[in-house]
Amino acid sequence: MRPAIARIDLDALRHNYRLARSLGGNKALAVVKADAYGHGAVRCAKALESEADGFAVAAIEEALELRESGIRKPILLLEGFFEPSELEPIVQHDLWFAVASRWQLEAVEKFSSPRPLRVWLKLDSGMHRLGFSPQEFRAAHARLSALKHVEAITLMTHMARADEPDCTRSAEQFAAFERATRGLRGDTSVCNSPALLGWPQLHGDWARPGLMLYGADPLPSGVELPGELKPVMHVESKIIAVRELAAGEPVGYGARFVADKPTRVGVVAFGYADGYPQMAPNGAPVSIDGKPGKLIGRVSMDMLTVDLTEHPNAGVGSTVQLWGDAPRVTELADACGASAYQILCALKRAKQVYSE
Ligand SMILES: *Cc1c(COP(=O)(O)O)cnc(C)c1O
Repeated sequence: MRPAIARIDLDALRHNYRLARSLGGNKALAVVKADAYGHGAVRCAKALESEADGFAVAAIEEALELRESGIRKPILLLEGFFEPSELEPIVQHDLWFAVASRWQLEAVEKFSSPRPLRVWLKLDSGMHRLGFSPQEFRAAHARLSALKHVEAITLMTHMARADEPDCTRSAEQFAAFERATRGLRGDTSVCNSPALLGWPQLHGDWARPGLMLYGADPLPSGVELPGELKPVMHVESKIIAVRELAAGEPVGYGARFVADKPTRVGVVAFGYADGYPQMAPNGAPVSIDGKPGKLIGRVSMDMLTVDLTEHPNAGVGSTVQLWGDAPRVTELADACGASAYQILCALKRAKQVYSE
């Protein structure tokens, strides 16, 4: 069997969730969209179900997968519905949903709901992607409040630059949110992971942590965190061949790496089809039998190559960790000019092994 494995530590997930909720101060929806950022949405939701206040996903398809697996806690559709016909199953499966556009508001008004709805009304406080503008927001809130079939409205917004500690934009967005929602009835929800970790002055009733649940730090390296994040995903494979290169010999496609001295190369059964960033440069961090090492040569679909010159005891069968406790996914992302979000979500094909 191919030795590419993603070990998923569900205890670490629970630890990170508790940290997120304590930083959020109150209640936290665990964001498990995109298959829980590559970690497996059903397994992660089950691991959190007894303690999470609820979950958040991008679309009804993701919510139904959770419901079908027996998840009974609240589930929020972060982008609401994509067509009005989804309102039927939303009610049937007892889902919460965002209303972030005029057409969605109109669809909710026209819908004759057999049961009360929980709506998250979204303000565009400056991200300029989804949500009602500050000018429209109060009118939208009034229209929703007037509907008998809407039982609760949560006031939400989303931060665009909370991962930039020196940027004034988050404070401006929060001030815009406070102005637009002043005096309106309803819980509030503002913070994603970078806001929870980097902006203690921002707050709301419902936090919406995603990335930090998986133990990845969204803030720039060097910024101190208010608590420990434990990596949840540990991705590894094995060395399946070893080559000795003479000075001047290349390895892999395009000869991107050429040995400048005698070099021992290990071939690892993991490639971009498993989700490793294809653009990873020579020198990108790996861990070889637990010791720091580096990638050399261009990443192939099913394989990549590492430098074993400084690892004389490593050979065929040695374990190479691509990300996890070392290197952390953020270190790999920084080396590749990618984001931890992107690398985690890209995981596929590798066998997922869960530890409770
Ligand atoms: C994805 C998402 C989140 C989670 O963001 P992280 O940065 O991963 O914590 C929160 N809120 C909304 C609206 C989202 O789309």
